[in-house]
Amino acid sequence: MTGSTAAPFTADDYRARMERAVRAAAETGLAGLLVAPGPDLVWLTGYAPTATTERLTLLVLAPGQDPVLVVPTLEAPDAAKAPGASALTLRDWTDGKDPYAATAALLDASGSFGVSDNAWAMHLLGLQKALPGTSYASLTEALPMLRAVKDAAELKLLAAAGAAADATFEDIRNVAFGGRRESEIAADLDRLLREHGHAQVDFTIVASGPNGANPHHDVGDRVVERGDMVVLDFGGLKDGYGSDTSRTVHVGEPTDEERRVHDLVRTAQEAGFRAVRPGVACQEVDRAARAVIADAGYGEYFIHRTGHGIGVTTHEPPYMIEGEEQPLVPGMCFSVEPGIYLPGRFGVRIEDIVTVTEDGGRRLNDTTREMVIVD
Ligand code: ZN
Ligand code: ZN
Ligand code: ZN
Repeated sequence: MTGSTAAPFTADDYRARMERAVRAAAETGLAGLLVAPGPDLVWLTGYAPTATTERLTLLVLAPGQDPVLVVPTLEAPDAAKAPGASALTLRDWTDGKDPYAATAALLDASGSFGVSDNAWAMHLLGLQKALPGTSYASLTEALPMLRAVKDAAELKLLAAAGAAADATFEDIRNVAFGGRRESEIAADLDRLLREHGHAQVDFTIVASGPNGANPHHDVGDRVVERGDMVVLDFGGLKDGYGSDTSRTVHVGEPTDEERRVHDLVRTAQEAGFRAVRPGVACQEVDRAARAVIADAGYGEYFIHRTGHGIGVTTHEPPYMIEGEEQPLVPGMCFSVEPGIYLPGRFGVRIEDIVTVTEDGGRRLNDTTREMVIVD
């Protein structure tokens, strides 16, 4: 990432987001929000420092106060160029000065603040020392839905990122798999995602044969063989918004069992997708997908949650997981990605990004979910 994201938002858009965040903070009893470089800062201001260093950069949002971005003097010119810069006041501090004392002057000395997950511990400890009467909460825990509901412009960007990931799949299914290393196919995915407009690639999982049984297997030197199932899971950021899709392909003709397991995951993915509509709790999406797999006797082999939100990052709230009672709201975007992982043998995962509409769900990925045979 460079000094700002490529997302086409104006200072007014960022002002509206900051106002919304302050209102949400006040409603939960927080005296304000302290936002360090990372996805929350990108979403609120469009500012992404080129290098996040030990020097304090912190956005201070508090009710009845204009937004202030505390920045190191040497980075102030870059911060001033951020798309949301005119919606906030820059307060720079020079090396040798105490940035915590300068920030403390902006804060309610006995308030409770939401702190972004990306804040360095040393900065939070510095603030606590400067203002011993304050207390802090995780911003993601306090306001998990802050970025969850996407507006029309964000939806368009997520749909475009999804279409680019789909185009990548249509290309990758035509490359040679058998006889090549996972790492070579992953390099193809990286190149194709960039060719289709991604500025950042977050992951290119190529998990062949027994490696597919490990959902966190990234990529290795294993040579893909004829007869392998291969889990492909790839995504990143295009114009500041994320893509994330999985398809499981087979090299040559699959066995009956491989077909059956793939069909089961496809049916589970469909069931999760069909559960999506406004007012339904997130956990119901997980339950719908999981029930299909459990009913077929493979419940113990579906070892992760069904989905996660996506936006300016590729993993964020809301989570489609047992225990998450947050109701779905039109505009939310998240993955539906059930899988079955048979240790030492193979794995299958199918993943689409889905957005909640007034009357159900709409997929932002739409390549075939039938098993694709590759060479
Ligand atoms: Zn096979
Ligand atoms: Zn994925
Ligand atoms: Zn995912």
